[in-house]
Amino acid sequence: AALSRTKEVDIKGGWKVGDPVPYAALAQAFSLIEATTKRIEKTALLTSLFLLVIQRSKPGDFKSLLETVYLCINRLSPDYIGIELGIGESLLVKAIGESTGRSQGVVKADLKKEGDLGLVAMNSKNSQKTLFKPKALTVPFVFTNLKEIALSTGHSSQNKKVSIITKLLAACQGSEAKYIIRSLEGKLRIGNAERTVLVALAHATVLVDQERANKRINKEKLTVRLEAAAEIIKSVYSELPSYDEVIPALLEVGIEKLKDKCKLTPGIPLKPMLAKPTKAIGEVLDRFEGKRFTCEYKYDGERAQVHKLEDGAFGIFSRNSEDMSKKYPDLMEQLPKCIKDGTKSFVFDAEAVAIDRTTGKLMPFQELSKRKRKDVKVEDIQVKVCLFAFDLLYLNGEPLLHKPLLERRQLLREHFQQIDGEFDFAKSSDGETTEEIQSFLEQSVKDGCEGLMVKMLETDASFYEPSRRSVNWLKLKKDYLAGVGDSLDLVVVGGYYGKGKRTNVYGAFLLACYDADAEEYQTICKIGTGFSEEMLQSHYDTLKPLEMTKVRGDVKVGGAKPDVWFEPRIVWEILTADLSLSPIYAAAQGLADERGISLRFPRFIRVRDDKSADDATGPEQIAEMYERQVLAQSKSSKKKGGD
Ligand code: ATP
Repeated sequence: AALSRTKEVDIKGGWKVGDPVPYAALAQAFSLIEATTKRIEKTALLTSLFLLVIQRSKPGDFKSLLETVYLCINRLSPDYIGIELGIGESLLVKAIGESTGRSQGVVKADLKKEGDLGLVAMNSKNSQKTLFKPKALTVPFVFTNLKEIALSTGHSSQNKKVSIITKLLAACQGSEAKYIIRSLEGKLRIGNAERTVLVALAHATVLVDQERANKRINKEKLTVRLEAAAEIIKSVYSELPSYDEVIPALLEVGIEKLKDKCKLTPGIPLKPMLAKPTKAIGEVLDRFEGKRFTCEYKYDGERAQVHKLEDGAFGIFSRNSEDMSKKYPDLMEQLPKCIKDGTKSFVFDAEAVAIDRTTGKLMPFQELSKRKRKDVKVEDIQVKVCLFAFDLLYLNGEPLLHKPLLERRQLLREHFQQIDGEFDFAKSSDGETTEEIQSFLEQSVKDGCEGLMVKMLETDASFYEPSRRSVNWLKLKKDYLAGVGDSLDLVVVGGYYGKGKRTNVYGAFLLACYDADAEEYQTICKIGTGFSEEMLQSHYDTLKPLEMTKVRGDVKVGGAKPDVWFEPRIVWEILTADLSLSPIYAAAQGLADERGISLRFPRFIRVRDDKSADDATGPEQIAEMYERQVLAQSKSSKKKGGD
């Protein structure tokens, strides 16, 4: 089925083997992908594009496919290298003005009408008379120039960026300008989730294989192969999230042998395993009944994935795969001491927690957040940090993801050593009765933790699942027990001007969740209470530069009407007393109900600068929270009725 579908799709293949991939082929694919909401069609379109690129690449050329893939997901490097786009509106307006000979005022006025700078650029270009046709854009040319823009920093970089953007725009034809500008903004907004790209890559390689083997295969068999290939690539990529590694290997050895070639590698951070919230110990016991599990302290710090390579180099990565070695030079010094002889290479998962220098007591996250994020000097450090390791993912050349937690934990304890105030193992208790869990939970809170993480210990249910929010890891926070529920991570998309004393700052904010499949932000609530004057000023300082002329196309607004819109970038952690259905807000529409879901009495907890806007809570999670709440309410009203 997939084969016939890809044949229907007509991506212009007008280039010869060995030629650079024309950017026009990508722009055309993007237009078609944007025009459909069906995941299956998006996948088929991308598959056709990748298939063409592979067919027209010379043997040994993996760059063509690699750069095509990067442009399709709008990235320029693996996450941990962190070369990012995200050029501000004013710079882009300037470049569009310069390259199309229009004033910035006119470009801004158009933007106000259209709400999409990409469209404005495309229309400006297309209404411009040109004497001669510019040389066609190619994928390597666009990729190299985008990278140069992303990498230029410092004083004179603004002019340099504008001049590169102007050069790119000058060469744009058809719809190319629209996607170039959106790329520069940081989001393509065509609904191209990373999962779709991975599946399409797998499908394209199977189809190429099939073609080369020149053997007929029936549809059922092909479907099975396509599905298996998609599973392989998803699993490989979750262990080794780097297209720089996966794509050359895929082209070299094919999909079936990919797992042998691409494995978890120290130096390349994997996406961390995440936990599901639970509200009561009873729920934990229901879920884990009859299976061995362990409870660990849930430390209130920052996730830290620690790597050591064979050559002796260390790396510390954040929850978001950001390199944190510059933030934690003290940990970099502490680390070698906690390693026992014979531990040559490893990856362990840990929490970095602020501790009191004199008493050694754990301090809350707020203390840790006082530290600078970049270019920290050891001698300037005020807040001391201790690492609490809770999992071992790789040891001496061997990935351990598919070993039970019991075994991984054993290896962790054997190969590392506790050092007061510097390195320790997460405190754990394998007791399984309600009383034991209850008392361990109370102890964890007394010791300054948020509660417990409850984890499966044995069988394949206890394997490490990168990037998954797994039911085999449950979080039991003290807040949940008070009935408050889990916090949400929401993106600030709009602002309301303050009143009275607050007229110079925003007095309230519009928040949104993020739907990764639809690639859109969905408004969820307005928040305006509980901020001090100082906090409002600091939010104003951060958000003012992100103001946009009009709401961006990937924000599903519903009926919300803030005074200003922001580029969706800043993430806040929010607690709520209650969720309710809403005719105004757009979050999770069509999931629990046709209406959206909103938060009642939202409360600001903290800025989450370790999360990017795409890591914000998703609509499924919100619908799940709402449904649990309805269930709990109906249970308690039944109980009351029975009393
Ligand atoms: P999430 O990561 O689940 O989206 P979050 O970042 O807001 O949400 P929490 O939901 O509070 O974090 O819980 C998960 C986090 O708890 C982990 O990412 C990790 O940083 C931290 N943590 C602390 N102690 C442990 C532990 N023993 N095992 C696993 N994670 C732990």
